[in-house]
Amino acid sequence: MNMELSRRGFLAGAGAGVAGTTLGAFGFGDVEAAHAASIRPFKLANTAEARNTCTYCSVACGIILYSKGDLKKGEKAEIIHIEGDADHPTNRGTLCPKGSALLDVVHSKTRTLYPQIRKAGSDKFERVSWEQALDRIARLMKDDRDRNLVLKNADGVTVNRWTTTGFLAASATTNETAWATYKVVRSTGMVVFDNQARV
Ligand code: SF4
Repeated sequence: MNMELSRRGFLAGAGAGVAGTTLGAFGFGDVEAAHAASIRPFKLANTAEARNTCTYCSVACGIILYSKGDLKKGEKAEIIHIEGDADHPTNRGTLCPKGSALLDVVHSKTRTLYPQIRKAGSDKFERVSWEQALDRIARLMKDDRDRNLVLKNADGVTVNRWTTTGFLAASATTNETAWATYKVVRSTGMVVFDNQARV
């Protein structure tokens, strides 16, 4: 969303802001809301909007990410504000305290941004590419399944159970992604399957 602000518009907004603060101090709560609304266009001026899903829980609330910096001009985009998506049918613009703190999660210095591996005997993690990480995961899963898939139970009934590897999926996905994940995981015979919504 790009927004041009004229000098007249800026001064009118600033004036409304000062008046709103003063009246709010006298207990005019609605005026404080109007004051906040008058500030909002300045905060989000010249930002780009992107819709997404809150990463925390299975409610999967819709969010809007506001970022500054034009990638097409070679600039680095930085997310400066996150709020609930008023058009999203699940949350209609609201966010719980965890969702309201998403901006801190995005900018957290301890946030994991890429795959890492700690080799046997090592005391530290090393960065690897996504290709390396996915190849390794696929290799380990295949080897374990080949070794441990239970084809039949004690009565000779076909069961095709794979119980020695588990899969932890994300719940902050669309129904379609969740459906595809479920089908892929269950088609391998994997029994241990969960997601963070139960945490
Ligand atoms: S905003 Fe709160 S309720 Fe909504 S998905 Fe995020 S954590 Fe869950």
